[in-house]
Amino acid sequence: MAKHDKVQLWEKYSEDGSYEGEKCPRCGSFLAEHEDRVSCGKCGYTKHG
Ligand SMILES: [Zn+2]
Repeated sequence: MAKHDKVQLWEKYSEDGSYEGEKCPRCGSFLAEHEDRVSCGKCGYTKHG
């Protein structure tokens, strides 16, 4: 994994505690955001764009 693939999952929470990121359509876990895609660390789902 390259250095720029830093996972920012835990920086996506709003002050009111709600999560602003997307959820995985396969397993419902939160998706990790990368520069050009999002990915699920649980089932391996990846979406570009
Ligand atoms: Zn998943």
